[in-house]
Amino acid sequence: MSASAESYPTPGTFSPATGAELEPVEQTHVDEVKDTVERARAAQKEWRLTTLHEREEAMQAIARRVLERADEIVEIISQETGKNPSEILVNEVSGIAEYAKIAAKEAKAALSPVKVSISKIAYPGKSATVEPVPRGVIGIIAPWNYPLSIFYKPLFPALLSGNGVVLKPSEFTPRTGAWLVEQCQAVLPEGLVRVVQGGGEVGEALIESGIDGLTFTGSVATGKKIAARCGELLIPCSVELGGKDAAIVLADCDLDRTAIGIAQWALHNCGQNCAAIERVYVEDAIADRFVEKLGQIVEKVRVAGEGELCEIGPLQNHQQLDIVEAHVRDALDKGAELVTGGERTGSGLGYRPTVLDRCTAEMEVVTDETFGPVIAVVRVQDADEAVDKANAARYGLNGSVWTKNLARGEEIARRLEVGVALVNNHAIVGSMANVPWTGVKDTGTGVAASRFSYHTFVRPRTVFIDKSSKPDPWWFPANEDLQELGETLVDFSLGSLTSVLRLAKVAGRRVKAIQKLARGD
Ligand code: NAD
Repeated sequence: MSASAESYPTPGTFSPATGAELEPVEQTHVDEVKDTVERARAAQKEWRLTTLHEREEAMQAIARRVLERADEIVEIISQETGKNPSEILVNEVSGIAEYAKIAAKEAKAALSPVKVSISKIAYPGKSATVEPVPRGVIGIIAPWNYPLSIFYKPLFPALLSGNGVVLKPSEFTPRTGAWLVEQCQAVLPEGLVRVVQGGGEVGEALIESGIDGLTFTGSVATGKKIAARCGELLIPCSVELGGKDAAIVLADCDLDRTAIGIAQWALHNCGQNCAAIERVYVEDAIADRFVEKLGQIVEKVRVAGEGELCEIGPLQNHQQLDIVEAHVRDALDKGAELVTGGERTGSGLGYRPTVLDRCTAEMEVVTDETFGPVIAVVRVQDADEAVDKANAARYGLNGSVWTKNLARGEEIARRLEVGVALVNNHAIVGSMANVPWTGVKDTGTGVAASRFSYHTFVRPRTVFIDKSSKPDPWWFPANEDLQELGETLVDFSLGSLTSVLRLAKVAGRRVKAIQKLARGD
């Protein structure tokens, strides 16, 4: 099963659980991408005129179709990723209707026009409204780790805002993306949601194709390249990149719950989660007991291929398995202690869930994203050392503190340099449509989900109405009253009450002078 970089199978042609070959999916020619975007743009012209209520109903209809066809998509995802069916059903499929419902509520908050408050003294007769306007066609470029649900965060807000969408699934999971687009197409106007298939070159073509906004989820290296190009093209873009999440375990935690909670959020999806707990900073006082318990729990986690029931699938691809093995080797070479795991399972790309104790900042498993089923435990003296070490990472997505003292936990969590700070849980908000999913540092500047993510999907348009029949007093011509008008406005801004009367007088004289100029007297 070992593969060198040169001999990796073509992405998307290999089932990671069984090793079976998969029929390749037809790639989109780069020259066709622009046309695909144009078709979505044509459909968007009608869609943008629909009401939010109509769009909300369409999102529910898409969600219903997905739920009614759950068996189909579970099988496709299982084939492409090796995850077990119940894991897919729970984590990717079952929550879609609720997600769409809450996303619609967030849309209402984000898309409601705002009447601007304008001073009647400084700007008589004027009013303004700021209304969010759909940008046009949004490109969505996605990774393979949650091949269906990764799309929910940008797809629903993009459509609810009145945009067309072109999806580019990962080349490792093309069938899942295509299937989701089919469900959208069955409900939405023809052409509004479309798919392009392929790797980086198709992603690049999508960015060059005239899209009006982009959401990218993927690696730091690709995300930085994409953000730079979007900057040059002035395309608003949201980049959600890698992570190396830390959990801080304090001596007063509930040991049983903490150990299983950390195992859950480290190994969920075989650790192929941008917000997987990859580093655990544990206070010395309970380190021995914590490591022993964590080891016992992790040892019992079954990987696909180990019987009917299993908690996690394999790594999705050979590249990822190679990174996991390299990180574990590097840690052991540098003195980490293997508590459990550290080897392949012998079935497909399965890797035994692994706990490494006494890890240090010299090890890749502590500094670089592993994106696999590996937990690096770092022992620390106290919470301050834990916070310093957690914040030394170049990533910052989620960070959690595990303690029975909630007030102290909250205070420590706020000191973490992350987008989502938690106490006694981790990564859970990733499935919530009304909580922003965002990070700091190399995790990227993107904001996904919730009303806070709408910058990529809408632009603010100001509609300004002037009902005044008179010209404004600062219009041409300049005359001796203009200086006085300026001085009076300064006094007015400084809060002088008498300035209001003076302002009315000088403005009145100015308006007459302006009207005289306009009449040509
Ligand atoms: P990747 O960067 O290799 O690929 C992501 C997507 O970008 C794919 O669709 C790929 O085809 C496309 N792509 C590659 N090169 C491109 C280019 N030059 N121009 C345009 N598109 C291009 O990432 P991956 O290996 O698929 O995903 C794993 C990474 O995603 C991990 O780092 C993980 O942490 C991150 N991730 C982040 C989040 C988050 O919300 N922050 C969520 C899931 C995954």
